[in-house]
Amino acid sequence: MGANTTIALEDSEIPGAWRISGEKWFCSVVDADLFAMTARPDGAPPGTKGLACFLVPRTIDGTSPNGFRVRRLKDKLGTRALASAEIDFEGALGWPIGALDEGFAIAVSELLNTSRWLNALGSTGIMNRTYLEASSFARHRRSFGVTIDTFDAVKEQLAVMRIEMAAAVASTMALTYLVGRIDEDSASDEEILLHRFLVNANKYVTSITASDVVHRGIEVLGGNGTIEDFSPLPRLYRDAIVFESWEGTHNVLCAQVRRDCARLGLLGVVETWIEHELALVANSFADDVERARSALHLLGPALNKTIDNSSESAALFRRQLTLLTRVIQATCLLRSASHPLSSDSDAAIASAFVGLHLSTGGFAEEPSWYGFVDRVLS
Ligand SMILES: Cc1cc2nc3c(=O)[nH]c(=O)nc-3n(C[C@H](O)[C@H](O)[C@H](O)COP(=O)(O)OP(=O)(O)OC[C@H]3O[C@@H](n4cnc5c(N)ncnc54)[C@H](O)[C@@H]3O)c2cc1C
Repeated sequence: MGANTTIALEDSEIPGAWRISGEKWFCSVVDADLFAMTARPDGAPPGTKGLACFLVPRTIDGTSPNGFRVRRLKDKLGTRALASAEIDFEGALGWPIGALDEGFAIAVSELLNTSRWLNALGSTGIMNRTYLEASSFARHRRSFGVTIDTFDAVKEQLAVMRIEMAAAVASTMALTYLVGRIDEDSASDEEILLHRFLVNANKYVTSITASDVVHRGIEVLGGNGTIEDFSPLPRLYRDAIVFESWEGTHNVLCAQVRRDCARLGLLGVVETWIEHELALVANSFADDVERARSALHLLGPALNKTIDNSSESAALFRRQLTLLTRVIQATCLLRSASHPLSSDSDAAIASAFVGLHLSTGGFAEEPSWYGFVDRVLS
C-alpha cells in the first residue's frame, strides 16, 4: 500500500473536495455507487504515512459520470459473480474519510479490518455449504450396494469437514463479539488488542481451512465433484482460493501479527484471554483443557523468542501462529460445548478438534477416534 502512486489535488471550486488521478490495479465491486480508496495528497510524504482515505462516488449529482474509466474487467479464478476491474482515475471527485494524514490507519481499521472479518464469515459459509452438499450426497450415493456414508473413510472426511467448519464458526463468532464491542464503544483496551490479533490470525487460518474443506467435499462427490453444473463445489473451490489471497495474503497477515506482537505486546493479552476462557470450560472436558493448556504453555515461550529475535525465520513464526490460532479455536469450541444447550455432537466436535490439532500422539490413529467420528456426524 505504501507504494501507492494515485494522487489527490485539492479541488479549486468545491470546498472540501479533491481530484483523484491514477491507476487502481484491483478494484472489487466496480459497479458500486461509492468507492473507498487511498490516494496521496499533493506534497504528502512517501510510504503509508502520506496516504489519505477518500470516498469517491460513481456519479456526480446522481447522473454525470465521475472522472474514471474502467480499463477492463479481471478474468478471475473465482468470485466471478463480483465484478473486479482495473480502473484509471482521471480527476475523479472524492471527499476525505477522516483526517488526511490518518488515511492508512483509517483504511486498515475501517476497511481492511472489516473486510478481513467478513472474509472469515464468508469462509465459514463456504464450508457450511460444502458440508451440506457432501453429507447429503453421501447419504444417497450408492456404491458396492450401500450408501457411501457407511464407509469409514468417507465418514472421516465428513467428520473432519464438520469439525473444521465448527472451529471456523467458533473463532469467527468470538471475533464478531469483539467487533460488536468495538462498534458500540464498550470494548476494553484488552478487547481492542485481542481484536487486532484475531482479525488477522483468524482470516489467515479460516481461509486456508475453507479451501481444504471444499477439496475434501469434492472428493466425497467423486467424479461429480468435478462437474460444474452438478454442484456448487467447483465454484466454491475457486472462490475459496481467492478468499485466501485478497484482503491480505497469509505471509503478509502473519508479518503484521508478528509486528503487532512485538510493538503492542499482543501475545500476553491473547494468552491471558485463553487462560480465562479455559477456566470457564465444563469439568467434563478436563482432559481437553489440559491438552490446550499444555500446547499454550509450550508455545508461549517459543513464540516470545521468535517475536523478540528478528533473525528468527518468518516461516517459523507462521507455523507457531497457526498453532496458536488452533489453540484459540479449541478454546472457543470447548466454551461453546460447555453451554447447557449444547449437543453431544458439539462436545464430540470440541474434543475431536483438540485431538486432531493439539495432540502429540497421533490422535486420529487411536481407536477412540472412530467413536468421535460417529458422534461428530450424529
Ligand atoms: C479478486 C481480487 C480483488 C481485489 N480487490 C481489491 C480492491 O478492491 N481494492 C484493493 O485495494 N485491493 C484489491 N485486491 C488486491 C489484494 O488485496 C492483493 O492482491 C492481495 O492483498 C495480495 O497483494 P499482492 O497482489 O500485491 O501480492 P504480493 O504482495 O505481491 O504477494 C505475492 C506473494 O509474496 C508474498 N509476500 C509479499 N510480501 C511478503 C513479505 N513481506 N514476507 C513474506 N512474503 C511476502 C505474499 O504472501 C504472496 O505469497 C484484490 C485482489 C483480488 C485477487
